[in-house]
Amino acid sequence: MFSVSDSTGQTIDAARRALTARLQAAGNDSAELDARLLVGAALGLDLTGMITAAQRMLTPDESDRLDAFARRRLAGEPVARILGIKEFWGLPLHLTAATLVPRPDTETVVERALELLRAGGATDRALRIADLGTGSGAILLALLSELPRARGIGTDISLDALETARRNAARLGLADRATMVNCDYGGELTGPFDLIVSNPPYIRSTDIADLAAEVRDHDPRAALDGGADGLDAYRTLISQSAGLLVPNGLLVVEIGHGQSGDVEALMTAAGLSPTGPPRADLAGIPRAVSARRLPR
Ligand code: SAM
Ligand code: GLN
Repeated sequence: MFSVSDSTGQTIDAARRALTARLQAAGNDSAELDARLLVGAALGLDLTGMITAAQRMLTPDESDRLDAFARRRLAGEPVARILGIKEFWGLPLHLTAATLVPRPDTETVVERALELLRAGGATDRALRIADLGTGSGAILLALLSELPRARGIGTDISLDALETARRNAARLGLADRATMVNCDYGGELTGPFDLIVSNPPYIRSTDIADLAAEVRDHDPRAALDGGADGLDAYRTLISQSAGLLVPNGLLVVEIGHGQSGDVEALMTAAGLSPTGPPRADLAGIPRAVSARRLPR
């Protein structure tokens, strides 16, 4: 019987092209990239290795691995989940079922935070940072990679996510500057912090069923569900942050579509002053909202 995923007896190049075509036929608009990543992972080759070995035949083991990856991708599993790794801010981050796949949109939070720190001439100070709901550690580790004297705490309610974040910190050589703590956003922290960042869950509970299947069926619900109006996490973490920041300290959060007004209002009510219009992501959608704690 013809199988949609059978790479037996093919060269590496032919297998890659056949997988690209199968993914395209299934409506995948990143078919070429996905096929390259999956072939590379199944064979343990980087791009150069794949080009060099293009005309070699797949071994039976390689073929089995690739076909298993292809079946998972064709069933809608995101490439990052299949590989167990995703690049964020140029850093390879390992993932588990308990961690959100870090999104390029979230780099907007890192950019805004760095931009504000640079404007204040603070990037070479021994900054204290907290990342509330750290998941894979993405935002915290990106910031620590840019701020050589900074130290930070990542929190999460998921112990599994924290373990993944801890391992990511170790793999990136940042473990001595990153501590992972199990608590409700900033609930167990004493601070004070110069910078607090967060990409909390912000999807309305009733909207989760309508999310793209790659998100809904594969990202952990605890990473997505923002309660009835999507703002539950902000209510908690903004008021906590107001008490944890140094005077003039910064809070930078990711927001979902259309949430900037509500989030800025929560910040203002907590005694924080928005530092300008939200920063847009690559799609032009307002994505990072920031505020400063007013000096007493
Ligand atoms: N910061 C990561 C990123 O940007 O990729 C993960 C963001 S994910 C949208 C939100 C994270 O918040 C998840 O890791 C989830 O487990 C965590 N979380 C949910 N509720 C929490 C709570 N009450 N306290 C702390 N973390 C929480
Ligand atoms: N950015 C994610 C999505 O909509 C949601 C993550 C979140 O709730 N912070 O796919």
